[in-house]
Amino acid sequence: MTAKNPLNNVIFQDASKARAWLEALLWAGGRACGYCGTLEASSPLKGRDGYYQCKACRKQFTVMVGTVFERSHIPLNKWLQAAFIMSASKKGMSAHQMSRMLGVTYKSTWFMCHRLREAMKTGSLPPLGGEGMVVEADETYLGNLPAHKAPVRKTPGRPKFGPHHKRAIVSLVERGGQARSFYAETAKVEKVAAIVRENVAKESRLHTDTSSVYKHVGKEFASHEKVNHFEKEFARGDVTTNTIEGFFSIFKRGMKGVYQHCDERHLHRYLAEFDFRYNNRTALGVDDGERTTNMLKGISGKRPNYRRINERATA
Ligand SMILES: [Zn+2]
Repeated sequence: MTAKNPLNNVIFQDASKARAWLEALLWAGGRACGYCGTLEASSPLKGRDGYYQCKACRKQFTVMVGTVFERSHIPLNKWLQAAFIMSASKKGMSAHQMSRMLGVTYKSTWFMCHRLREAMKTGSLPPLGGEGMVVEADETYLGNLPAHKAPVRKTPGRPKFGPHHKRAIVSLVERGGQARSFYAETAKVEKVAAIVRENVAKESRLHTDTSSVYKHVGKEFASHEKVNHFEKEFARGDVTTNTIEGFFSIFKRGMKGVYQHCDERHLHRYLAEFDFRYNNRTALGVDDGERTTNMLKGISGKRPNYRRINERATA
């Protein structure tokens, strides 16, 4: 017996079924005009499937107006397929492979993937952690900084490599909860401290390794406990950074194995993608279908910023 292929679902096969499904999802609280936001003041246009005429601003709109799908000519069922594939692939999916699966050109697929990453972004959220809760903080390095951002060498000789010349990513994970990742350029103490300070509740227990970047900011929390990786200490009681290292392991396998090259300008979107999948993980009871739905709920109120995404179609 073969497993049922979820992509056989009609919403992935038929553009008008996909549209009806998306309308039901995004307009659960009433049909809102994508231009002026007026609720339930529109009527369907005769002979134009999916088009509505707003009585308030007189504009014609579809469910795609005011979302990251706006002005796209890709059929909606292909958009839903792309969202499902991204949701269900633990380490992400390259635009090349996705393009073959969707039967859409590579260039269009590349833009689709980046717009879906925009959908996965969250706005400002309350701090992680709280009284008695553990937040693990750590940084990882991915690829080299662009030359103009790399630290200037003070001594002549062979160029130095190592963390100082690499792009630093700082992540925070609430144990048993959510993850939040940031591109910090270089892991300078002030920058890392600001990220930790703004995103972790002061009542939390902070767990890190012995890196000096957490030393001062650590004093602002209920406690700051460290594991000493240099002495091969990875856990002491419940003090550990294993959760965040598990998160980084998936992130790095995805970024190195699947995406390979990632321009600095797009890095924030890849971070949003890995945070999103972690925050909607199976262990929290979220299955592939629900994760896709959650992703698609995020497309609203985020008109694509064409200039920003169009900067360069790479990675
Ligand atoms: Zn309107």
